[in-house]
Amino acid sequence: MAKNKTIFVCSECGNESSKWLGKCPACNSWNSFYEQKIVETKSKEKLEKSVTTPQKLNSYEAKEQLRIPTGFGELDRVLGGGLVKGSLILLGGEPGIGKSTLILQICDKVKGEGKVLYVSGEESAEQIKLRADRLGIKNENILFLGETDIDIVNQAIINLNPKLVIIDSIQTMYSDEITAAAGSVSQVREITRTSNESM
Ligand SMILES: [Zn+2]
Repeated sequence: MAKNKTIFVCSECGNESSKWLGKCPACNSWNSFYEQKIVETKSKEKLEKSVTTPQKLNSYEAKEQLRIPTGFGELDRVLGGGLVKGSLILLGGEPGIGKSTLILQICDKVKGEGKVLYVSGEESAEQIKLRADRLGIKNENILFLGETDIDIVNQAIINLNPKLVIIDSIQTMYSDEITAAAGSVSQVREITRTSNESM
């Protein structure tokens, strides 16, 4: 990926500076500097090394992805037939709309497929157990982890090798790698990337 750098250029004479200047030292103009983003181009050597030979599309074998049906007709239709291995699904909606309920029901439908890791950053194990009992959830392979540190979550994913991971919810998670607050765009982006890699 190209790295973006910012330079400042004098609009009068084209003099460049790494920082903004009130007065141009070359032509003595005042307030003539404006910010300009420059994109570093890849070196020829680096480019040559990274070039891969394009292959005929026909030479690839298309494998039909194995899908686990959720058992909910509407949801399976939206997902194109069910949950695809290695896929990441973002379930959004207003608070109280029933996201957590639907998620628990999905956990129950994948019974027999392997372990399900349920990570909650908001609710306690007791709260989720109560909901599961109310819904009559019978999958004994659901494992609960109350955690908001994504590095610990990722380690749990690696250790357990679950078939399905639930993160409820993504905006409560944080990574020490990113200084921005939990729930911010940069946190959500980083967490989504790293947790998907752990799968
Ligand atoms: Zn100038």
